[in-house]
Amino acid sequence: MDHVDVVVIGGSFAGMSAALQLGRARQSVKVFDTKKPRNRFAPTAHGFLGHDGRTPAEIRELGRDNLAQYPTVEVVEARVATAAQEGEGFIVHPEGSAPIKASCLVLAYGLRDELPMIEGLNEAWGRNVMQCPYCHGYEVRDRKLGVLYTSEASLHQAKIIPDWSADVTLFTNGQAINRDAIAAVESRGVVIVADRVIGLELEEGWMRRIILQEHNHDLDGLFVITKTHHSSDLAGQLGCAFEEGPFGPYIRVDNLQETSIPGVFAAGDIARPIHQSVWAAADGSAAGAFCHQSLLSQRNPYHKPAA
Ligand SMILES: Cc1cc2nc3c(=O)[nH]c(=O)nc-3n(C[C@H](O)[C@H](O)[C@H](O)COP(=O)(O)OP(=O)(O)OC[C@H]3O[C@@H](n4cnc5c(N)ncnc54)[C@H](O)[C@@H]3O)c2cc1C
Repeated sequence: MDHVDVVVIGGSFAGMSAALQLGRARQSVKVFDTKKPRNRFAPTAHGFLGHDGRTPAEIRELGRDNLAQYPTVEVVEARVATAAQEGEGFIVHPEGSAPIKASCLVLAYGLRDELPMIEGLNEAWGRNVMQCPYCHGYEVRDRKLGVLYTSEASLHQAKIIPDWSADVTLFTNGQAINRDAIAAVESRGVVIVADRVIGLELEEGWMRRIILQEHNHDLDGLFVITKTHHSSDLAGQLGCAFEEGPFGPYIRVDNLQETSIPGVFAAGDIARPIHQSVWAAADGSAAGAFCHQSLLSQRNPYHKPAA
């Protein structure tokens, strides 16, 4: 059976950053990736120094070019279906090819978003229906903006969006929300609309209007907080511990990105409560370096247990 130092599962911001460190440390690495990064629906990506405004595909290609410089790193387009501990290491089963042994794993397979069931929302997702104002708020600054209430986190979002525009409406979609919470949102100049949301009216895939039970409302941008799900259950298969975050569960890691299972590191959206690509890349880079050091099988002097 093929044996490498490290298998990285997921080859996007976190996984490629881990592989870069490992390749530079001259470790043998296989990166498995199914090419579905979470931000693939957005025409441009923002907030990543040096990459601001590039398309997600461009950033990915630049990452691949970087990895191609390192002969010990191989990127394989395949989904890893299972992973298990065996002896001192791990066995990973990619779909369509033979199992492979690794001394260490980096999990970086990202999240998928569960979108509210509202007509038109899927089509405009990543365009002007957005998850995060730091990623896409600047592009719709001073325009007519909305926040769709999906959970309590939407109230927090509604309070910060007025820093991007003075014209912000919170659509509560018929949900009962306590008066104090509503008053706190209103104190930021946000208008509250309690009507049920029927759908979004689109023009060539971009939302132009929100259709409500009683009336319609022109909009240039709508912010929606989603429920998130892990793209794979590999961390569960390996027995890693999880924490509960505001958008869904995430894998518990210590300050070196190691999970509760020694030798299994995790990075990116699956291993943090809040998400951005540059944070995923930073975590991935740390996971790569500390995973390399863990192969020396001695206690790392930088280790601090997870809280
Ligand atoms: C619509 C949208 C727009 C966004 N825009 C921005 C932005 O402008 N700026 C910003 O900073 N952040 C943005 N984000 C957040 C950003 O997408 C994430 O923080 C980032 O993608 C996380 O990187 P990651 O490497 O953890 O996971 P991902 O980028 O999601 O990559 C995970 C990779 O693992 C692969 N994979 C999954 N399962 C398996 C498996 N079993 N085997 C092999 N491979 C697997 C996937 O195909 C994917 O390539 C946006 C998010 C969304 C939803």
